[in-house]
Amino acid sequence: MLQQTRVDQARPYFERFMASFPTVSVLASEELDAVLKHWEGLGYYSRARNIHAAANIVREHYGGYLPDDPDSLRQLPGIGPYTAGAISSIAFGRPVPAVDGNVVRVLSRLFMVDMDTRSSRDRRDAEPLANRLVDPQRPGDFNQSLMELGATICTPYTPACSRCPIQSSCMAYRSERVDDFPVRVERKRAPIVNHIAALAINGNGKILMVRRPTEGLLGGLWEVPQESLADEARPEEAAVLMMQKYDCTRVRTADLGMVRHAYSHFKVSATVFRIDVDCPHGDSETRKWMLPEQIDELATTGITKKMLGLLTGEHPQ
Ligand code: SF4
Repeated sequence: MLQQTRVDQARPYFERFMASFPTVSVLASEELDAVLKHWEGLGYYSRARNIHAAANIVREHYGGYLPDDPDSLRQLPGIGPYTAGAISSIAFGRPVPAVDGNVVRVLSRLFMVDMDTRSSRDRRDAEPLANRLVDPQRPGDFNQSLMELGATICTPYTPACSRCPIQSSCMAYRSERVDDFPVRVERKRAPIVNHIAALAINGNGKILMVRRPTEGLLGGLWEVPQESLADEARPEEAAVLMMQKYDCTRVRTADLGMVRHAYSHFKVSATVFRIDVDCPHGDSETRKWMLPEQIDELATTGITKKMLGLLTGEHPQ
């Protein structure tokens, strides 16, 4: 949870999660839907799927207890080099580094090495440097102190060098080149993808919810029907055509407005329609007809919540 979210925001999610899934075995035996529901609002739902899959592997292969070495930890879904190093050193006292972006920044300045904190290759390259420094007696404390130094003193802009406990060893400080490290590689702007979406409502006032494929972005979450819009297509016609893919016939259409939503590598700008429909099919594994007040029972995507808000005016865009 803390890989993308601040402690104060993650705390209530963490507490609810631990109350519902207090052990690896309990987590492993729960349905994925229940785990996704607890993750709802945190984003990066692949992490919820990974922690559920990892719990199943830990239960089956390690008797319900996490392995203590980083190599075994890295075999588990969702655990990369940083997390493996953090668990191994902090929870089990193994003398291995844990290199996050903050640590890369400190090391880059300490040794005056060109590294970009956002580059996974540079993080990997920083591991041997961090490995040289790890205190074998207290590796967990050492790794946490290095992360904390980067988060609170050796910050990206105007680091507090006058208060830094490793100032005398810092090559960038001694060379008066702190501003030159780490390097900053310019990133491309996130592209904007145009979508159309339909709040399809049947004669009973129920809204069609569809389930995303388990694999891929937001896998397994529920959403209202939506798809990308071709450049030359007219939004309303495309929305009505989309409903035909669900064997639904349009009765009437109303334009509800636009919704925008940002993901890590792109942004979506969606035109949302209310489409009253006739539809012969009932519920299935991947489709449900639900009253608006029932939809909260499902784990839904963030953009779908915004779209549903257009019905009630709760989420003006
Ligand atoms: S002296 Fe300054 S640049 Fe060097 S590690 Fe400390 S805070 Fe960072």
